[in-house]
Amino acid sequence: MTESALRDVVIVGSGPAGLTAAVYAARARLAPLCIEGLQRGGQLMLTTDVENYPGFEDGVMGPDLMDRMKKQAARFGTEFLQEDVVSVDFSRRPFTVRTADAEFRSRAVIVSTGASARMLGLPSERKLMGRGVTTCATCDGAFYRDRVVAVVGGGDSAMEEANFLTRFASRVHLLHRSDRFRASRIMLERAQANPKIEFHPFREVTEVLDGGTGKVTGVRLKDVKGGGTEEMKVDGFFLAIGHVPNTRIFEGTLALDANGYIECRPDSSYTSVEGVFACGDCVDHVYRQAVTAAGMGCRAAIDAERWLEAQGR
Ligand code: NDP
Repeated sequence: MTESALRDVVIVGSGPAGLTAAVYAARARLAPLCIEGLQRGGQLMLTTDVENYPGFEDGVMGPDLMDRMKKQAARFGTEFLQEDVVSVDFSRRPFTVRTADAEFRSRAVIVSTGASARMLGLPSERKLMGRGVTTCATCDGAFYRDRVVAVVGGGDSAMEEANFLTRFASRVHLLHRSDRFRASRIMLERAQANPKIEFHPFREVTEVLDGGTGKVTGVRLKDVKGGGTEEMKVDGFFLAIGHVPNTRIFEGTLALDANGYIECRPDSSYTSVEGVFACGDCVDHVYRQAVTAAGMGCRAAIDAERWLEAQGR
């Protein structure tokens, strides 16, 4: 089905970036359509308490925060569609955005498809997500004061998260599948020098354990060099094995960097295609916070509004 109306703005993605863009675009009377994705709300839907989003002095549950943002965007006239975008045509204007069974034409598009933390792919890891399994030390580290945690990964993220977690945890076990670390030397050496961090090379995590409690109690490890398995008691399990930007549908259309993140012109949300703007974790691999994504969404909506105005809208 092709929608007959030509829209001013279609927003692809419904995390903090997309929903903030929606609030701003809707208040600018651009009547945005937000195509949310089948799993709406982005990465915060996978978290529990969010204590670092300004304005919530007692914290807020991740899914609650996303519901509130959605209601705020709806209040000013954002339309929502809970579908995945399967393809786009940005080769001519107006642009086309397609879901499995509909096609939308729009003068401007805001891309806020986010990123996904790379996961090990274990059913137990998925089941205990937000119940001791987490992908963000900045967000959840403070819940592990005087507890024992494990971090998996051997890159800069793993070193940074392990170091950060020593502010709270009594012990941090660093689990890595080999003894070759991608982390930069300075980050690796800093982690190795930290007396609270214990390195466990050649360890593959084969299961996250909960002992029937519904909360992480440990991990099962395979020794990939010596053979054999062991169980390690931990209260928290931090995944730091990289992130994957959700940008596959834009390959060959928007300029992406070597890791798949959307390239924007400096100090703006302008992508390589004029009229297409990008914001949030599909652009930013440095800060990756809900509040920074929201700020980027605001910028993208303002950029889109000004661009449309310059086009005579
Ligand atoms: P990286 O891709 O650099 O490292 C990923 C790590 O996870 C590797 O050690 C990799 O192991 C391991 N890994 C990947 N998949 C699996 C798996 N399925 N099972 C077990 N282990 C796995 O990602 P990072 O997020 O660490 O860093 C991304 C980028 O961000 C880098 O360029 C980094 O320098 C940068 N960064 C910089 C920081 C800073 O400067 N402050 C902080 C954080 C990130 P293997 O090597 O065996 O493949």
